[in-house]
Amino acid sequence: MNLIFLGPPGVGKGTHAVRLAEELGIPQISTGDMLRAAMKAGTPLGVEARGYVDNGELVPDDIIIRMVKERLEQPDSQKGFIFDGFPRTVAQAEALEAFTRIDKVLDLEAADEVILRRLTGRRVCADCGSTFHTSVIGDLTVCPKCGGTLIQRKDDQPETIQHRLDVYHQQTEPLIAHYLKRGVLVKTDGGGGVDENYQGVKQALGLA
Ligand code: AMP
Repeated sequence: MNLIFLGPPGVGKGTHAVRLAEELGIPQISTGDMLRAAMKAGTPLGVEARGYVDNGELVPDDIIIRMVKERLEQPDSQKGFIFDGFPRTVAQAEALEAFTRIDKVLDLEAADEVILRRLTGRRVCADCGSTFHTSVIGDLTVCPKCGGTLIQRKDDQPETIQHRLDVYHQQTEPLIAHYLKRGVLVKTDGGGGVDENYQGVKQALGLA
């Protein structure tokens, strides 16, 4: 099954994609994670991407498309995949259509206020990448899963979050109409609790 999870930053795409990918035995492919790994490793791609990512801007389409195309050449994605955070522009979606088939696109939505609240409290483990929320872990600085250091992503600062939401509404939201026209769009609510939303994700995809 070739799936795309669409929706604003912080709506839960990553959380649900990781869980469902594990259940289905297919990879979750997050372009954000790939860019952060390249930035951490200091590769030419990472150096080029850093300015865009830290400021909440989209990385240029040609860079992203090349990166995804290479990723899909790896054997693990032959059985299917879940794209998380890709495509983010109509140009990316059109490029993708030239090299793979998409079965379903899940649109997860939540109000901007919910997103702002979630992202300002988000903490990420610098070592294992797990995410937590300050409403649950308080001001803990050590990862409960691996003992690594919990950090706040640079692009989770309040001004940058608002900008990322604006970028989402302007550049990514048009994909909803794009995939609706292609007859592959399904929707579910991303504004509630994690487990309740996950059931909605599975129902929307006909997997529950
Ligand atoms: P994410 O982890 O999905 O929120 O992505 C973090 C940041 O990486 C975004 O704010 C963009 O700067 C960049 N990024 C991730 N995926 C894409 C994409 N498909 N197109 C352009 N930029 C991206």
